Amino acid sequence: MDRSLPNILVTGTPGTGKTTTSEMIAEATGLEHVNVGDIVKSKQLHEGYLEEFDTHVLDEDKLLDELEEMLKDGGKVVDFHTCEIFPERWFDLVLVLRADTSSLYDRMPCRGYNKRKIDENMECEIMQVVLETAHESYAPEIVVELPSNTVDDMESNVDRVKQWLEAWKVNNSK
Ligand code: ADP
Ligand code: MN
Repeated sequence: MDRSLPNILVTGTPGTGKTTTSEMIAEATGLEHVNVGDIVKSKQLHEGYLEEFDTHVLDEDKLLDELEEMLKDGGKVVDFHTCEIFPERWFDLVLVLRADTSSLYDRMPCRGYNKRKIDENMECEIMQVVLETAHESYAPEIVVELPSNTVDDMESNVDRVKQWLEAWKVNNSK
């Protein structure tokens, strides 16, 4: 994919700070935040709702078509809790946000999740599911694990992305 700006994927267990961090990255860099969960809901790119799991079943084909169009020119910060459904070629950088058990647990109630969903998310984070999936799905040199326990962490993560973007522009200028 030939693009004049990179695409960045921000992934991680629900509650690790993807949306907050992506908004901060967008603000700091001028890249555009793409909240995949919001798109799935607003464009109805799902095949129904699983009450028991409190989750939507994605219509992956439709979602990928929609996103392909949005990402083709680059410049997007894509925010989603899973990362293995996307083609590898879409992204130049994959950030996996990580939170300690206690930080994450404290954030759960404000999401209105049921107990099952909370347990599922906590286990997902403890078992590093998203990190391992990112390593299986993307080249090792583009996957970066970032701590997201405090506001300071978020600010330093945003700073790192800013620096990475400047370097990307230098390396990819024609
Ligand atoms: P996600 O999009 O990954 O589900 P959010 O960005 O919606 O996570 O964050 C969930 C909640 O946790 C929000 O209230 C947010 O302010 C808080 N939060 C997320 N990351 C951090 C962090 N690194 N430090 C402090 N609070 C955070
Ligand atoms: Mn979010």
